[in-house]
Amino acid sequence: MSILDSKTPEGPLADKWTNHKNKIDLVNPANKRNIDVIVVGTGLAGGSAAATLAELGYNVKTFCYQDSPRRAHSIAAQGGINAAKNYQGDGDSSYRLFYDTVKGGDYRSRESNVYRLAEVSGNIIDQCVAQGVPFAREYGGLLDNRSFGGVLVSRTFYAKGQTGQQLLLGAYSAMNRQINRGKIKPYNRHEMLDIVKVDGKARGIIARDLVTGAIERHSAHAVVLATGGYGNVFFLSTNAMGSNVTAAWRAHRRGAYFANPCYTQIHPTCIPVSGDHQSKLTLMSESLRNDGRIWVPKSLEDAQAIREGKRKPTELSEEERDYYLERRYPAFGNLVPRDVASRAAKERCDAGFGVNKTGEAVYLDFATAIQRYGKETALIEHISNPSDEEIKKLGAAVIENKYGNLFQMYEKIVDENPYKTPMMIYPAVHYTMGGLWVDYNLQTTIEGCYAAGEANFSDHGANRLGASALMQGLADGYFVLPYTIGDYLSKDIRTGKISTETPEFDQAEKDVNDRIQKLMGGAGTHSVDYYHKKLGKIMWNKCGMSRNAQGLSEAIDEIAVLRKDFWENVKIPGVANSMNPELEKAGRVADFLELGELFAKDALDRNESCGGHFREESVEQSGEQKGEALRDDENFKYVSAWEYKGEPKDALLHKEELTFDNIELKTRSYK
Ligand SMILES: Cc1cc2nc3c(=O)[nH]c(=O)nc-3n(C[C@H](O)[C@H](O)[C@H](O)COP(=O)(O)OP(=O)(O)OC[C@H]3O[C@@H](n4cnc5c(N)ncnc54)[C@H](O)[C@@H]3O)c2cc1C
Repeated sequence: MSILDSKTPEGPLADKWTNHKNKIDLVNPANKRNIDVIVVGTGLAGGSAAATLAELGYNVKTFCYQDSPRRAHSIAAQGGINAAKNYQGDGDSSYRLFYDTVKGGDYRSRESNVYRLAEVSGNIIDQCVAQGVPFAREYGGLLDNRSFGGVLVSRTFYAKGQTGQQLLLGAYSAMNRQINRGKIKPYNRHEMLDIVKVDGKARGIIARDLVTGAIERHSAHAVVLATGGYGNVFFLSTNAMGSNVTAAWRAHRRGAYFANPCYTQIHPTCIPVSGDHQSKLTLMSESLRNDGRIWVPKSLEDAQAIREGKRKPTELSEEERDYYLERRYPAFGNLVPRDVASRAAKERCDAGFGVNKTGEAVYLDFATAIQRYGKETALIEHISNPSDEEIKKLGAAVIENKYGNLFQMYEKIVDENPYKTPMMIYPAVHYTMGGLWVDYNLQTTIEGCYAAGEANFSDHGANRLGASALMQGLADGYFVLPYTIGDYLSKDIRTGKISTETPEFDQAEKDVNDRIQKLMGGAGTHSVDYYHKKLGKIMWNKCGMSRNAQGLSEAIDEIAVLRKDFWENVKIPGVANSMNPELEKAGRVADFLELGELFAKDALDRNESCGGHFREESVEQSGEQKGEALRDDENFKYVSAWEYKGEPKDALLHKEELTFDNIELKTRSYK
């Protein structure tokens, strides 16, 4: 084991980034024209990085497996993006955003990175507004804000329930400008299957053209991985079906340490699982918790009657309802962080209060908000003595304005009108805080290989606050990487073009081809999904919302057995040298089958509860915090960074000790 150096600059927290930028080396414009950068991934992190690097003058190649960067998973982001602009005058500041993020992540993130994130957050909004992103505006034309969990201010900028889509259009148009200038060469429908190292440095990738099946070599002076999160290791998640770990995992196998793989965010407001036929879960944005109140019946009898269809939620009086978040966490109420809200829902459902047929659902109810907004609108519009019906209609119109598309989506999936009857929700896997370990410069432990956005581990600690992923991805891509990568590339101005005709590229290409042949060669009987679902069940049952040593040990063994079976018995139809979606999936699931084991090993090592990682052995036993997650700062105040050593269970742990010089380490309370 070694202690990792985060390369955090010296100096006061608030000056670190400015001082660092002032001191790092620059590349002059003429030299930038001779330097190539590969950006794998064109979601918000990769798209913004590629556009900015090309604007600066570097020659950029981008890769994505979709048919257009426009379709990256970032498009799904609904609720919003945080920034410390203090437009509401409610006391926000860079420090408060920094503080909320470190506390929200349960004191398991790196102070310097988080402060930088807060510091550049305002620039992101300016950049996106300049690109024409249509953020919601107040009546007077100023940008509007709403609140997300774990904070006491309103700092979330949004574009209805389509914030990710609008931000991605901004990044994509910035990319398009560079494609037109010939500064970005886009390789869509291409999947990176390996990273190529020359003399220890990342110098290229091996990619498969997903349309023709051809295996290609691409070289560059540096490689950026912005390939998103790995929540689909659970099979069911709110992520896009294609989201996967392959690029990060391939880099891990070549020397990039994988940090905190077990830190997973389970989002409290998703449409509940309805059966075994499902391959995807749907998020109901956290923004709904601004106005929706979460509850279950107070009595077990009512819960049972509702499950059996004998009572309707709208028939229960206020006294018969348990608004358990408001009861348990009066200070933050329905806006507690996601991990807290998820565990509280599970606790109620495990105790028998669940409200759908499976017993795994709670209500998210807008009746109070509809009443409140209805009365307010009636006052504004001078409607005297409005009827109950009128109030409901006026209130529903306000709700529709704020969340219309989310309500429509819910109704389409569940076939119930959420304006009239409360939504049913349950926690689901949503985001992965773990990822490739990066230093302050976003460089992985492979020199010249950088990681950005959800693919790295950098800013969110053990739990990400809502609307912070978009902020981090765009901060990395627009405002951090373009500086830090320049410092590295300044040493490459005399290197010249990197050849792909070298033994290193030969070997990496051979490894990729051998693996594909091995996958195609199996005379097995089971589909790829068969294994993915089995893996997902192990992950959810033993590495899910609550974890214990016995379950995690079992998971490690079970995943190893499943992986062996996969390689012996998976059946992939079609051929390798043509379009073959089953082969694509197989490669990704093969990597999930390795990651899953490391995930469980990491969770087993971390014998404390923090953020989304809840160990049943580490729970507050008494006092105000009774039943809440119990952190162990003495023994676990570190980032786990795993080095690949063959079988995932043999991975070697390295630690980055976390220091808290600007925030007092204390029990995370939202009461
Ligand atoms: C339903 C939903 C709603 C969300 N809402 C919000 C929100 O409101 N606010 C918020 O802050 N966050 C939200 N999030 C989280 C946020 O959307 C993501 O964390 C973020 O968009 C990730 O961006 P990214 O650029 O890192 O990765 P992605 O957008 O996932 O992009 C990954 C890119 O990598 C490419 N790629 C991956 N592997 C390979 C490979 N091997 N070869 C080539 N290309 C590859 C893909 O093609 C894609 O271009 C939400 C998440 C979900 C699931």
